Amino acid sequence: MPARAVPCCRCLAALAAWKDGAAPVCRDGNSAVTKKCRGCRDLGKPCIGPSGLLKARAIALRAAIAAHPSVRPAAVKEAQAAVRQVHQARRDAAARPARERAERQGSSGAAAEKAAAAANKTAAAAEKTAAAVEKIAMELQQLRGEVAGPAELYRKTHEATVEAPHHSEVEKGWVPATWET
Ligand SMILES: [Zn+2]
Ligand SMILES: [Zn+2]
Repeated sequence: MPARAVPCCRCLAALAAWKDGAAPVCRDGNSAVTKKCRGCRDLGKPCIGPSGLLKARAIALRAAIAAHPSVRPAAVKEAQAAVRQVHQARRDAAARPARERAERQGSSGAAAEKAAAAANKTAAAAEKTAAAVEKIAMELQQLRGEVAGPAELYRKTHEATVEAPHHSEVEKGWVPATWET
């Protein structure tokens, strides 16, 4: 299989890190089965071609290595550094939003979690209170129902007993009056 003119991202990273010995080569695998290069196919990893600036620099690096096989002149080193530069820039770009997200979650995320926990607690307490109030109300209602009959009886009895001493007091007041005459 011929070497690819544009190495895939995985092979390009190996090429950019290449120091001595035979330069890593991105070769097509069995194209009837897979579009992956041999290295990616053997590793069972996705084979992704570089794009944009990285692709241009990959081609330049590939050309520099092809022009100077098995040695590593300044031209190849420069081309490698150029590829690594793009790799670093892309890693930074990829890491930035992830880091910002992590920071946001670190501060407000914890606060939001705390607030949610507090709200949960309050809701649970309110539910408990509501249940307790309902229970008390039910018990009161039940009590009232049970008491209603005897209470009516009690009121009638009480009224009768209140009237009795009132009557006797009038009698008491009346008695001394009769004594004076
Ligand atoms: Zn490859
Ligand atoms: Zn590949």
